[in-house]
Amino acid sequence: MDRVIVVGGGLAGVRTVEALRAKGHQGEVILVSAERHRPYDRPPLSKAVLAGDADDTTVDVDWDELRCEMLLGERATALRPGDPSGGTVVTTAGELEFDGLVIATGARPITLPGPGGRRVLRTVDDSRALRARLAPGVRLVIVGAGWIGAEVATTAARKGCEVTVVEAADAPLSGALGPEVGALTARWYDEAGVRLRTGAKVAAVEPGALLLADGERIAADEILVGVGVRPELDWLAGSGVEIDGGVVTDAAFRVTVAGALRSDIVAVGDCAAWWSKRYGRRLLVEHWDTALNAPTVAAAALLGEEGAEYDPVPYFWSEQFGRMVQYAGYHPVAERVLHRGDPDGSTWAVCWLTGDRLDAVLTVDRPRDLVQARRVMSAGTPVDPDLLADPERPVREA
Ligand code: FAD
Repeated sequence: MDRVIVVGGGLAGVRTVEALRAKGHQGEVILVSAERHRPYDRPPLSKAVLAGDADDTTVDVDWDELRCEMLLGERATALRPGDPSGGTVVTTAGELEFDGLVIATGARPITLPGPGGRRVLRTVDDSRALRARLAPGVRLVIVGAGWIGAEVATTAARKGCEVTVVEAADAPLSGALGPEVGALTARWYDEAGVRLRTGAKVAAVEPGALLLADGERIAADEILVGVGVRPELDWLAGSGVEIDGGVVTDAAFRVTVAGALRSDIVAVGDCAAWWSKRYGRRLLVEHWDTALNAPTVAAAALLGEEGAEYDPVPYFWSEQFGRMVQYAGYHPVAERVLHRGDPDGSTWAVCWLTGDRLDAVLTVDRPRDLVQARRVMSAGTPVDPDLLADPERPVREA
């Protein structure tokens, strides 16, 4: 394979470049990325960067050693796959022919209708701009009590802002964890002095206010929309690449073009919906751990390594209201929920189970539980639910 083009300079893009070189790829590598910044980490953008404790999260990479040409501030606008292999990426810097292609364009935030000003939080520029506005007394209205909403509320409240979080569902994190478990986090908002409005649908963003569907207006100096993301795939329109929620891939991140599985085109990171053998379905996991680890498999597939397959127990974390919240597994497959410790206490966990199979775990300030539960799930070790419910007993002994 001579020339590999990587489209997207987020974590998944840079990790794929590293993996290609680590696996001995000698050909040309070109990274095309819409942002002007070198690849950087996003999780701190709603944490340390927003708080002012960090400013630069650039991924520590020796680009010269990687022999990677970077086209920063340039965007892919179309893909013309060749038949049966190779093709051309059309970019704002011109047309680039490729022998191998990595689609790593990530995701972009969903926004809301209405003429008023609003912010989203996806890039380091978004984070720095919002940070500059967080000051005592500033009325910040956050739409969405998801991961980003909770993290921004944490920092903004600490900075003395008057924070209101507006959520359409009946509980925070409902979309991610289900209403029952999500509701366990509602009191954290109150304790932090953040006003949480659940069951409140937004009609429009107006200048200086958020208009709710019931006609109420919530006055705001700043509005942040944190209602989720969509894969950034417009540039693939008309290319024949199969898309269903994200770019549809097999377990090695190979994509399908016009009905044919391509070993020279992979998709990875927030834009890829990959086949999980473990869960028997396609997963689109918009989290850091996947962007970090999946590229090794994607690079192996691109270089034609036999048996490349990604089949982890998914993992992510969130830091909210002074707590470390961690999740591993995939709870939609589970039959029931089990509490491990008192959710009104300072540390606790929730386990999702099917019979004696542990499907997922959410831990609050219990990192050891998380690590052990992830190992149990990876190995498929059966658990005793009664023992698991006892927070004094290590998960590995359940
Ligand atoms: P991205 O990071 O989105 O990178 C894609 C890149 O491609 C971008 O630079 C984009 O500009 C570029 N691009 C898009 N379209 C084009 C195009 N047409 N041409 C060229 N370039 C293009 N995960 C966790 O597990 N825990 C956390 O605590 C956590 N916190 C987060 C906090 C914030 C504020 C954000 C935004 C995300 C957070 N995440 C967290 C999620 C994690 O950061 C993402 O899963 C990860 O960044 C995905 O990496 P990616 O490379 O797939 O996509």
